[in-house]
Amino acid sequence: MRAMILEKPGRPLELARRPVIQPRTGQILIRVRACGVCRTDLHIVDGDLPSLGRALIPGHEIVGTVEGIGPQTAGFRPGDRVGVPWLGWTCGRCEYCRNGRENLCDVARFTGYQIDGGYAEYALADERFCFAIPERYADEAAAPLLCAGLIGYRTLAMAGEARHLGVYGFGAAAHILAQVARHQGRSVYAFTRDGDREGQAFAMRCGATWAGGSGETPPEPLDAAIIFAPVGALLPQALRCVRKGGSVVCGGIHMSDIPSFAYALLWGERRIQSVANLTRVDGEQFMRIAAEVALRIETTRYALGEANAALAALRTGTLRGAAVLVAA
Ligand SMILES: [Zn+2]
Ligand SMILES: [Zn+2]
Repeated sequence: MRAMILEKPGRPLELARRPVIQPRTGQILIRVRACGVCRTDLHIVDGDLPSLGRALIPGHEIVGTVEGIGPQTAGFRPGDRVGVPWLGWTCGRCEYCRNGRENLCDVARFTGYQIDGGYAEYALADERFCFAIPERYADEAAAPLLCAGLIGYRTLAMAGEARHLGVYGFGAAAHILAQVARHQGRSVYAFTRDGDREGQAFAMRCGATWAGGSGETPPEPLDAAIIFAPVGALLPQALRCVRKGGSVVCGGIHMSDIPSFAYALLWGERRIQSVANLTRVDGEQFMRIAAEVALRIETTRYALGEANAALAALRTGTLRGAAVLVAA
């Protein structure tokens, strides 16, 4: 099979041939139809996350068809459409796993990092961590649901009952989250890079009630703010816009350092929270919502061999919505 390989962080991915490995007990072999390109992939490629010291295949927003199943595999059959998210394996035994917080498992393995991912023609996955995909979405539109949608949903849940919700960084995750939040009757205030008029117009098309630059003050105090942009300096800015008792939730896996700020910004029982990974329960809940609400998923299509170009577009912030690698 053809695959885009990361030999070492800091280097571009290389198109190479790899053998297709047959599924073992509990595994399914998937013919990849589409794989979303997530900011976490960029952090892995750029070396912002710890290097594994070996080559890997990125990609954790996989949509494909089951091509083969291993022994004792019962959940999927050949021909089924399936989605593979970031959480690829957990131990089931540590304190976190036993208490419904498998997203924090001490030895979790992640798709497109410890487990080879979907920047390839085929991928292997543990069937227990895969999801069925709502029928209304084509493969290309469904791919971003697997992380941008799903972890965006967990981030939204962490914001609690917030009615006035700020979102900093309006990319793939935010454009889905804004539609879900709108469906739940919340108002979304979108913050983009200063002067990014096109990004602000995009946010308004996705259901935001207001859009402005990240240094601006929204027309209403926020009950909660969600930060997707990997920019630590946004945290004190967001706190400034959040009312007493509100929270700032950071949805990304990596952020630049947070500058120091006056305690007065946190005072008034404001909270700061990060969101790590996902649980399978998050995935099931989110897929139910995605089946119910016709989410409009904006994608830019790339061929497998163009993965470096997709990552570059993500890095420069020129994308609207999500980049997706689509099988020929
Ligand atoms: Zn565990
Ligand atoms: Zn992701």
